[in-house]
Amino acid sequence: MSPAGLSRLLFGADPKLRRMLSYWGATATLYSAFIVMLLNVGNRHLIERQAVLGLAVYGACGMAATYLLVRFGSRLGLTPTVLAALQGVFGISCNMYAYSIAGPLRGATLMGLMVVVVFCTFALRPRQTLVLAAAGLACMGLTMWWHQARDPVHYPPAVEAVTFAIMAACSLTVTLLTGEMTKLRARLKAQKEELMKAVETIRTLATIDELTALANRRHMNEVLAQEERRHVHGAGAPDRASCIALLDIDFFKQINDRHGHAAGDEVLRGFAAAARTELRANDVLARWGGEEFLLLLPDTGEAAAKSVVERISARVGRLLVDGVTEERGISFSAGLTARRGAEALADTVNRADKALYQAKSSGRDRVVVA
Ligand code: GH3
Ligand code: MG
Ligand code: MG
Repeated sequence: MSPAGLSRLLFGADPKLRRMLSYWGATATLYSAFIVMLLNVGNRHLIERQAVLGLAVYGACGMAATYLLVRFGSRLGLTPTVLAALQGVFGISCNMYAYSIAGPLRGATLMGLMVVVVFCTFALRPRQTLVLAAAGLACMGLTMWWHQARDPVHYPPAVEAVTFAIMAACSLTVTLLTGEMTKLRARLKAQKEELMKAVETIRTLATIDELTALANRRHMNEVLAQEERRHVHGAGAPDRASCIALLDIDFFKQINDRHGHAAGDEVLRGFAAAARTELRANDVLARWGGEEFLLLLPDTGEAAAKSVVERISARVGRLLVDGVTEERGISFSAGLTARRGAEALADTVNRADKALYQAKSSGRDRVVVA
């Protein structure tokens, strides 16, 4: 089996699961280090070696069980909250065990409770973490009480009481602080989502013409620059040439003058909607100026491009706009040209502009190919 296959078998493919298992790995390492340390101390006759071995077996079994629960938890229907709570309870029991066998070093084992609390804040809500911390405190309190009652010589009641008080204060403080951090994280997440939405809106506003919902001139300039880069290698091949057409509505000023600016706006919207239905997937139409539009037809020969523009013209000719009664109907003139070789697209646009001028001066409502 390849290393990647083994990793998938052990840790799954879901990134969330892998993250949970990495937390599990971190705690397993901590347990192991702790056991090794206790064994080492045991060698110096501070702690009973047999008891440490017992804790090692208990910890190993628990870690194996929690690994299986986390790894296959979703199949067993266990939520991350339940899994974290189970691991928390196991952590607390280890702490009680360690405290009971660590003899003069037992105070140090209490740090483990902090780890349990911080660990659980990743999956539990602040209130749930508080409940878990309170349960941990209660269990440790009971353990300490039981030891001082049973063996007051080795577990002096005053020492146990002060130790408990310090541990309670510390773990409650840690719980409250981590709760605040969880809330802060949730707020940051919500803010980030809001910001992403705002950026998306700004991006849309920056690329779309408000009136017609076509691409705006700024965006079209970006599209043209991209088109130029795309053709750096393929430029010049006749079947890979791109065409540019400039479309300008005829006698638009008259429409405005006769029917009002609002009706003129409606014509612009109607023109955009009509043209859009005739565009192919890769064609880009932009509002280039007031009533002038630039159409980019990538990888299109002149003849095919001309028929696209003529189809738009036919559809615009059938356009009915409320409040606009032009006998001649709504029409536009167009200048169309193919990009020549690797010329700058600005030159292609200039040639289309000249062709548009010819279309206007030769009677309007026509397409001139340059
Ligand atoms: P031609 O056939 O030669 O193109 O004549 P025209 O009247 O269409 O051209 P001209 O350039 O003289 O007039 C364009 C008009 O378009 C002038 C301007 O007031 C109007 N216009 C520009 N932007 C808008 C707009 O957003 N809404 C409206 N309603 N009118 C606009
Ligand atoms: Mg015009
Ligand atoms: Mg014009």
